[in-house]
Amino acid sequence: MKNITEVIIDSTRCVGCGRCKKSCLEGAIKGDKKKLHVIDANRCTRCGLCYYRCRHNAIRRSQGLSQEAL
Ligand code: SF4
Ligand code: SF4
Repeated sequence: MKNITEVIIDSTRCVGCGRCKKSCLEGAIKGDKKKLHVIDANRCTRCGLCYYRCRHNAIRRSQGLSQEAL
């Protein structure tokens, strides 16, 4: 079983500003203005762009399990 890194949005920190959504070239981030945004792990390439755009420290990387290991 191998670990992979996932990029996730912390629901307790996200204010729904939309900066991350605009920065994502893959269209992997969804969310309405002033509401929690979420990342579609199937589209996300883990480029890290959104991480640097968020001013609320709401985006972080987390360890996840590879699908092929299941
Ligand atoms: S940039 Fe940060 S605070 Fe703004 S919508 Fe994205 S995760 Fe939420
Ligand atoms: S890490 Fe890159 S591809 Fe993934 S959601 Fe953020 S900007 Fe989009």
